[in-house]
Amino acid sequence: MACYFCQKNIQTIDFKDTEILRHFTSGTGKIRPKKKTGACATHQRQIAQAVKRARFLALMP
Ligand SMILES: [Zn+2]
Repeated sequence: MACYFCQKNIQTIDFKDTEILRHFTSGTGKIRPKKKTGACATHQRQIAQAVKRARFLALMP
């Protein structure tokens, strides 16, 4: 499974894109492991960072 962000040629993940980030979190709001999301190491790190930032701003659970 190819990395979603590499496929879409997205270099930086915007934490305001909660619609996209939602796909990378479980129903309970946990960040899904990269084995499940298929994201590469670089983007997985960015997902984690973006989700944490979104959480801080209460955009996500
Ligand atoms: Zn990637």
